[in-house]
Amino acid sequence: MNDCLYIEDSYIKEFSATVTSTKGKYIALDKTNFYPNSGGVEWDTGKLVNKRDGKVYNVVYVGKFEGKISHELEKEGLKEGDEVKGIIDWDRRYKLMRFHTAAHLISGVFSKNYNLSITGNQLNPEKGRIDLNIEKLDIEFIKKIIDEANQIIEKDLPVEIYYKDIEEAQKDSSLFKLAMEFPREIKKIRIVDIKGFDAQADGGCHVNSLKEIGKIKFIEAVNKGRNNRRIYFNLENK
Ligand SMILES: [Zn+2]
Repeated sequence: MNDCLYIEDSYIKEFSATVTSTKGKYIALDKTNFYPNSGGVEWDTGKLVNKRDGKVYNVVYVGKFEGKISHELEKEGLKEGDEVKGIIDWDRRYKLMRFHTAAHLISGVFSKNYNLSITGNQLNPEKGRIDLNIEKLDIEFIKKIIDEANQIIEKDLPVEIYYKDIEEAQKDSSLFKLAMEFPREIKKIRIVDIKGFDAQADGGCHVNSLKEIGKIKFIEAVNKGRNNRRIYFNLENK
């Protein structure tokens, strides 16, 4: 069983868990649905409710430390063995999911249609950022990419998640568009597949179909050093 619930289902909003360790305001759970700050995507916030006394603890930050997910709470008080109900801030999570799938889609357009690769991304609920390794900053070209991405959203392709054996996955370099770290011992790679368009190895949360993204809006593109162009985008509900 996986102790990260979001890996199996990005749409879970509430869950039950047991506190396995505490260090002041920082606690670990036997399982969690809180996504930690990783892969260029911001963390989930929300709350933990102590089932024993109903006390509520706001989760303000979630990170991964030495392979373990740590929840930073607003205040101390939970103890090892406490059973809690976890509730994630769904508005925030859902925006991050939409941004994350949108980032995969844009990176897919760059690589598939223009053989260009993304070098990084940073996503928060307010805006998305993608770094691109190109020599010249051509705003019209970037806008064209966003238009093409929006046309693909109109097709409302499903987003499927499945696993591949690591040996098989490594034969296909297109699955690894972003430099990502994978633990050496893993045997299976999780694939996020915008069906028929772009598949990438990924451990994050995504929407089930492209229409959920809404519409991608170009904000601006800036030069960030030699060959690095930084593109900012936003999402509109449709
Ligand atoms: Zn991703």
